[in-house]
Amino acid sequence: MARVALVTGGMGGLGEAVCFKLAALGYTVVTTYSPGNTKVNDWLATTRDQGFNFKAYPCDVADYDSAAACVAAITAEIGPVDVLVNNAGITRDMTFKKMDKTNWDAVMATNLDSVFNMTKPVCDGMVERGWGRIINISSVNGQKGAFGQTNYAAAKAGMHGFTKSLALEVARKGVTVNTISPGYIGTKMVMEIPQEVLDTKIIPQIPMARLGKPEEVAGLVAYLSSDEAAFVTGANIAINGGQHMS
Ligand code: NDP
Repeated sequence: MARVALVTGGMGGLGEAVCFKLAALGYTVVTTYSPGNTKVNDWLATTRDQGFNFKAYPCDVADYDSAAACVAAITAEIGPVDVLVNNAGITRDMTFKKMDKTNWDAVMATNLDSVFNMTKPVCDGMVERGWGRIINISSVNGQKGAFGQTNYAAAKAGMHGFTKSLALEVARKGVTVNTISPGYIGTKMVMEIPQEVLDTKIIPQIPMARLGKPEEVAGLVAYLSSDEAAFVTGANIAINGGQHMS
């Protein structure tokens, strides 16, 4: 039977590429969308025309009960989750001086609480079945910090602390937990940065002198999801064109 992969935020730039890749490899791919997102039916129709058969469930990943209900519905209707890709995320960039508690809380809840909320209802099942993959999409800015991103960098760095700790707890149970830290990838999130900032401040920091492609990150997710990656756990894998090496 095909393994079930749950990709949060699969309608976004990176998430969609991950959905495409895992589906092409034969996983049954399920994704989430924010409750109230009105584009989901169009996205399902478009991807169906492209030959995919994704399932999409409403889920506010920042909300514990919403995440639990989403996973319960997926488990009942499709099957237990074998691969969880915690990909949904937001930015609320501003200097610390301007940042209020609302902007802090939104980023922490969506980018970090979400990892707890989504992992909690799938992890025990993975352990019981003796196989599972949890992949957390962090960021280069969680590794090195970034001007205007105290909230985002803190949440993304926190993800990796979670990864390392849970990896220890489930290492003997066939479940791996890893972080991927992408650099700047050419998705909507990054294309919202003014072109001038991209050209003068961001691209010059990248030795490869270009943005990454969503498919390049998806390829790494596919590897970490595979049986071949069984010995990789607790890792934080950078994919950033050489922007940051640690
Ligand atoms: P997008 O903005 O394109 O997509 C983000 C996705 O997250 C959307 O599908 C959105 O769904 C979903 N989402 C946001 N909030 C919630 C919520 N509360 N509940 C459920 N879903 C939610 O971003 P990217 O594809 O660029 O980024 C994906 C991940 O990769 C993020 O975690 C980001 O931080 C990380 N990343 C991205 C980089 C880049 O350069 N693009 C670099 C490093 C890391 P909806 O539209 O339905 O709200």
